[in-house]
Amino acid sequence: MQSLQEPLPSLTTVSRVAIVGGGFTGATISRLLALSGLFEPEEIVVFEPRSRLGAGVAYDTNDPSLRLNVAAHRMRAIPGDPHRFARWFCETGRSGRDPEAGTEGAIYARRGDFAHFMDNEMRPLLENGRILHVCERVERIRRQNGRWRIEGNAGTILHTDIVVVATGHPPPRTPAQITSALQFHPRFVSNPSTPGAFQKIQQMDNIWIIGAGLTALDVLATLRARGHSGEITLLSRSGLLPRPQATGSLTLDGDLLKRFPKTALCLLQQVRSAITDVTEKRLPWQIVFDALRHQGQAIWQALPPEEQRCFLRHLRRWFEIHRFRMPPQIKELVARETAAGRLHVRAGRIVSAACDSQDILVDVATAPHGNIKKDRVQWLILATGPDHENVIGSQACLLDLERVALITKDPHGLGIKCDRENRAVAWDGTPVEDLFIAGPLARGTFGELTSVPEIVDQAERIVERMRRIHFTGTRRTPIRSTPSN
Ligand SMILES: Cc1cc2nc3c(=O)[nH]c(=O)nc-3n(C[C@H](O)[C@H](O)[C@H](O)COP(=O)(O)OP(=O)(O)OC[C@H]3O[C@@H](n4cnc5c(N)ncnc54)[C@H](O)[C@@H]3O)c2cc1C
Repeated sequence: MQSLQEPLPSLTTVSRVAIVGGGFTGATISRLLALSGLFEPEEIVVFEPRSRLGAGVAYDTNDPSLRLNVAAHRMRAIPGDPHRFARWFCETGRSGRDPEAGTEGAIYARRGDFAHFMDNEMRPLLENGRILHVCERVERIRRQNGRWRIEGNAGTILHTDIVVVATGHPPPRTPAQITSALQFHPRFVSNPSTPGAFQKIQQMDNIWIIGAGLTALDVLATLRARGHSGEITLLSRSGLLPRPQATGSLTLDGDLLKRFPKTALCLLQQVRSAITDVTEKRLPWQIVFDALRHQGQAIWQALPPEEQRCFLRHLRRWFEIHRFRMPPQIKELVARETAAGRLHVRAGRIVSAACDSQDILVDVATAPHGNIKKDRVQWLILATGPDHENVIGSQACLLDLERVALITKDPHGLGIKCDRENRAVAWDGTPVEDLFIAGPLARGTFGELTSVPEIVDQAERIVERMRRIHFTGTRRTPIRSTPSN
């Protein structure tokens, strides 16, 4: 490991910000920076290989069966105007074109519609030049003469004063037990969000999906919408499915917890007691988790690191199935499929895999005793969600930063280490003033930082931090679009 390449810049003459990744996080930060009035045209640059800003991995889809897991009025995507998305949905006639969106007293819009909404919000700022979208993937980030030099995959070179890393969700990791036998197998899908991943699946093929969370349920919905009607098995260690959203839009007033627990066990006890209280009042338990979410970051930060580890080891799966819930449309699909005997959910894990000329052969250690059961499947789809632990290893530009000791893995394996102001923390423990870690990548520090409302709050904090830096605009250099040495 090398030591820091150069002394950190004084940051008194910041004039350009580059955001690496233009998913919801990168787009929201760029939008807030543009509206702050601190920058001239071309000073806010977003690198994003997708054609639109704001969609990212989560929303860049035309698949009508993929819906938001959260009701439209809870998306709170626009600071200061929390119901803008719900309003836009109705005003643009989407509710007429998507009558299935409205159910159980709320709107669960298509994810693709949310991407359209974000595109609509971003477009004026792109058109008037307040934000520059470089439609490239960043390959390299290096220090040069006290600034940053960024290289895109199509040759753009940009010198900038501040970098915001908002590269979001890395692809899932194939378990080692599967890699050697199936890595190149034509019926093993290692990343279900790859375009065309399900194209060759036949109507009656027998499919196993590894994972039973919201990603796995997305795969189920997509396959059924494509006309697949064979048996589908979801396999996860716990065999637990996400719980459904509550009907209507009830909320709890005020803070759920008056004092923050110091242990994971104490947190569990407090949450259980709150659930008992609300269910006695005939209110849905879901409102406890919604209220918890508002205090989630403070609760996480009050837990000592060993208790955070304890939470992740023992409570995480339970927390996640209650916190990240399925929308009513998926609840109905799961109920229908289960009743028809076409959907099975199993607890266990694959311990080895092989293939013959016909099928994929799996040995599954079934929970709770680990008895090995052999099975034969036609398709195996990995839907375990993003591999945040390996986020640095998944990107050449992040490896660049790690190599010069400017970023490091979060100790819980949740992303990249940063301080409470979102500044990257270097290997020697010092914050890097001009390098921000944004979005779910910063979860190790904040705990609750996956969904739109929390990302919006974080974006506001990052922009506020940048506002405190004096901007002079004296160091701006032109963007070059041909590679140089
Ligand atoms: C499938 C799914 C469904 C969700 N549904 C909901 C929901 O209903 N409600 C809710 O509140 N939250 C939801 N979330 C959570 C939340 O909205 C996401 O966590 C959020 O979108 C994260 O945005 P992001 O920009 O940080 O990451 P991403 O969406 O992963 O976007 C990152 C972007 O960075 C780009 N990128 C990556 N590497 C580079 C590079 N080297 N150079 C340039 N660009 C790069 C990628 O192309 C991508 O567009 C969902 C998340 C997922 C994954």
